[in-house]
Amino acid sequence: MPGKVIKVKRHEKLGFLERLYVPMIAQALVTVSRHFFRNMWGFITGNRTTFVVQYPEQRVDYPDAFRGMPVLVQLDNGQPRCVACGLCEFACPTDCISIVPGQLEGAGIERYPEAFDIDMSRCMFCGLCEEACPEEAIVMSREVEISGFDRASLYFDKEQLLVPEHLLKRRLDFLRSEYNRPRGAR
Ligand code: SF4
Ligand code: SF4
Repeated sequence: MPGKVIKVKRHEKLGFLERLYVPMIAQALVTVSRHFFRNMWGFITGNRTTFVVQYPEQRVDYPDAFRGMPVLVQLDNGQPRCVACGLCEFACPTDCISIVPGQLEGAGIERYPEAFDIDMSRCMFCGLCEEACPEEAIVMSREVEISGFDRASLYFDKEQLLVPEHLLKRRLDFLRSEYNRPRGAR
């Protein structure tokens, strides 16, 4: 099941007061002033937690729907769950995934990614690769602290992308409930 659809109520015609714009401007000023005084009160009393997180010492717990950088699910045997089908590569709108498939002899799965690279300097964290994957092998993590001094350092290879499955449990559970999947594909 795709994500929930939220209907946004839009007025087709502006009312008299809306056409005057002044009440709307006044409403915006009230909202901005409320935030301003609340923050100022926080500064005066030292209770800054009302409006700011002291990053990086403090961190917010992102919701399960949060999309950080895409990572590969690593099975207990250390191997990626990916079967190198290429669907995520095809679905990626920025063309930042590149996969070199290899063939496994005598294993439960026939193909595996010999190489699996993502150029994080181009990735826009859209999550389409995750949606396209039939194996729950690539998922959006909570990791967003990605930086480097050049583009080459933002090129993540398979070893850098692998994350043990148990560390991705929250995201996998979220995906299974969101897409009405009973459990993992394998
Ligand atoms: S999150 Fe989007 S842009 Fe990034 S690798 Fe996946 S499909 Fe491509
Ligand atoms: S991550 Fe998923 S969609 Fe991408 S190649 Fe592997 S199995 Fe296919």
